[in-house]
Formats: sequence, C-alpha cells, structure tokens
Amino acid sequence: PVVTRFAPSPTGFLHIGGARTALFNWLYARGRGGKFLLRIEDTDRERSTPEATAAILQGLDWLGLDHDGDVISQFERADRHAEVAHQLLAEGKAYKCFATQEEIAAFRDAARAEGKSTLYRSPWRDADASTHPDAPYVVRIKAPQEGTSVIRDQVQGDVSIRNDQLDDMILLRSDGTPVYMLAVVVDDYDMGVTHVIRGDDHLNNAARQMMIYEAMGWDIPVWAHIPLIHGPDGKKLSKRHGALGAQEYQAMGYPAAGMRNYLARLGWSHGDDEFFTDAQAREWFDLDGIGKSPARFDTKKLESLCGQHIAVSDDAALRQEIEAYLAAAGEPALTDVQSTDLERAMYCLKDRAKTFPELLEKAHFILTSRPIEPDAKAAKALASVSDSILNELTPQLQSASWTRDDLEALLNQFAEAQDTKFGKLAGPLRAALAGRAVTPSVFDMMLILGREETLARLTDAAG
Ligand code: GLU
Repeated sequence: PVVTRFAPSPTGFLHIGGARTALFNWLYARGRGGKFLLRIEDTDRERSTPEATAAILQGLDWLGLDHDGDVISQFERADRHAEVAHQLLAEGKAYKCFATQEEIAAFRDAARAEGKSTLYRSPWRDADASTHPDAPYVVRIKAPQEGTSVIRDQVQGDVSIRNDQLDDMILLRSDGTPVYMLAVVVDDYDMGVTHVIRGDDHLNNAARQMMIYEAMGWDIPVWAHIPLIHGPDGKKLSKRHGALGAQEYQAMGYPAAGMRNYLARLGWSHGDDEFFTDAQAREWFDLDGIGKSPARFDTKKLESLCGQHIAVSDDAALRQEIEAYLAAAGEPALTDVQSTDLERAMYCLKDRAKTFPELLEKAHFILTSRPIEPDAKAAKALASVSDSILNELTPQLQSASWTRDDLEALLNQFAEAQDTKFGKLAGPLRAALAGRAVTPSVFDMMLILGREETLARLTDAAG
C-alpha cells in the first residue's frame, strides 16, 4: 500500500509551495487507497513555534487535505533517532569522532593551502576509539568513498553523485542530539513511507539520506523531487510576486476547490485538462505527469479555475464556504435571514464570480437593507429616469402575479407604454433594488426579494 507524507518545518505560515507539495502527496495516496501522513519537523527548537504548526494545520484544513493518524512530532522521536545512530555505531557503520573544532579547522586550512578538497576526513574513521578517555565526540557515518551513488528519482531521472564528494556526515552531535538528516530517514522508515514527493531543494539531501538507508539495509522509498514554483517572470516565487501563504488566498476569497485544482496543475499535467474535479484529480494524478521545469504562478489562471469551480458548486456547500471565508477574513457574520437568502439566490450569483468577494458584491441586494444607499454608478442610473416612471410602475407591480414570466411580460409592456425598451429601465431598477450597477437580473432580484420588499425599495427610490 502507498504511504505518503507531508513534513513541514513549523517556522511560518503554510507556503503556497508547501501546500502544493502536500496536495501532490495527498492526491497520490488518496487516488491509490493509500495513507497520507503528517509529520511536523520541529527539531529546530529556535525556529519552530506552535503558532506556525497551528497555521499549517489550518491551511491544510482549509484545502481539505486530511491526513491519516496522529500528527507526528519529529522532535519527540529524538530518542529513536539516537537509537538508530547507536545501532550503526555498534555495527561498525558509524564511528565516534573525537576531533575538536580546532583540529577540523586546521585540517581545512591545510587542505586549502595544498589546493585539495576541504571535505573533512576524520582520522577517527579507522582508529580504535575503544580505549579513548572520556571526551566529547560526535557520531559520524562511514560514507562510501569510491564509486558513485545513483538517486533514482521519478521526476529528475537518475542523478549520479560521486561518492568522493560525500563526507562522513554527523549523525549525533556531541550533546547526543540527532541531526535532521538522520531524523528524516528514521521517521520515513518507521512511518512506512513508500513515496516521498517533495521540493527539489531536497535533492541534495537525498544523496546523504541514501547513505543512512544503505547502512541500515532499509529500502529506499520512491523519490519524486518536484521543481519549485516560479513567479510569472521565471524567478523563484517571492513576496514581490504577491501572496505566498495559503491562508492569504483563503482570506482573498478563493474557493478551496479552485485552489486545489490550480495547485494540482502547477507542475503537473494531464493532457490538456485544466479544469477538473477532486475525484478526477485523485484518479488522474501520477508521478509521470510532473514536469521537470519550474511551473510559473499565474493568478489569471487561478481565478479562471476558481470561477469555474464556483459555478458548478452545490449552493448549500458554497454558502457554507462563503460564511467560513467571511470568518477567516474577519468580516461580520451573516444573519440567519441573509444566510438563507444567500443560498436561495446562489443560482443567480455563482455564474461569473471568480472569488467570494465578487460573488458577495453581486449579492449586495440581499446583504443590504432599506434605505438602500446607491453607489455612484447606481445614483447616476437612478437620475436617468424620472421618479414618475417608478411611481407609475409600483401600482402595476402591486397586483402582478409574482412569477418570472409574468414579471417579464409586465415590465416589457410597461417599457413599451413608456415608449422605451426594458433595457433602458433595467439600470434604474437595479439601482433602486440593489444600490449597485452590477447585480443579478432585475427579475431574479424581484423574485428573491418578494413583492413587499421590491415595492418598498422602488417607492423609496421614487422619493
Ligand atoms: N521539513 C522539510 C521542509 O519543510 C521537508 C523535508 C522532507 O520533505 O523530507 O522543507
């Protein structure tokens, strides 16, 4: 069975690149009946914070990337990491190195002076340390010194590393604490991880991690190192390009489904398919479709996909997600009436909105209440008709049958009688009903507001 994991370092918010890494691992596992695990790499005690862990969990939750089992803390597993180092020591695959900082510095100076590699070669590798007096030591792995190591990567292909470029990496520091590289390997092994999908900034680590797998005689997981995300200008994604945190996108009102779709397409492709559902993504996602060159972040594409997802979303689910968005963005919550109206009106709101703020702008007519304050455009539209027209219309609406067909017929006839076209009346009516120029159709608004509220707003506008 497939087991993947997401292993963020809790030093800040969930970066958009991290969100994509998590998504790829989640899709790969979920599409194969596998497990998706979550490990917080909190061994760096100075930089790791509980707030960052909370932010990462919140971001994953927003994106719907649920994990299996408990959240694993890497720091809490330090004893187990040390145990593995001691096993390697006992098996002669690692050794105690008593070299002091000064000795190492002197080694490097000498190497530099002779124009040789400054890669540290400890004299303790082949020395007998059994009779050495008590003194601080680090535990180093015996790295292979000849030949080449090949990282078999599902994205990058075979990557060869000359073994004489590898040093005897430290496994345990002199205070007995394990290094990060050891922790990752031991955790991945103990968690039963079969596939590691992560940023290609970790490709160099893979060569060093491989030494530990080999020394322990453990199977190496399938590795897939994915290219980082670039900005539209082809440079590494940074603040200058815009928002970097997953939560910022939530706060800007992008729907999670659109975000997932967009992130899935960021560096992975399935033929020409751009828009797809979660079910399709789970079914289609594979490692073969991951590109070798960095994907460029494209806000236009994100927005277009988000618009398509909003348009096909279930009304009740959409209403719920919008309410969660309002809370996340620190906006006031909807009243029960507004919430009900929003869901009733969803069919005519979700068509062309790319984000929730855009959708809510169209929903202004149900979120506002009398007296309706027209914005500048709406005020202009209202000024374009005489009050008497609205005053003539209201009695007709009083007795009209309140259905779309009948209202449409009535308003068209009314316009004709006024020697004009309904199109000319629509602007002022939108303005009167919503106080805005961009709204759903006049008929949709009338049907959702009902006769009484419609008449009240028209009467208000007629002054
Ligand atoms: N903690 C690492 C990071 O946040 C990920 C390590 C890994 O995936 O192996 O970049």
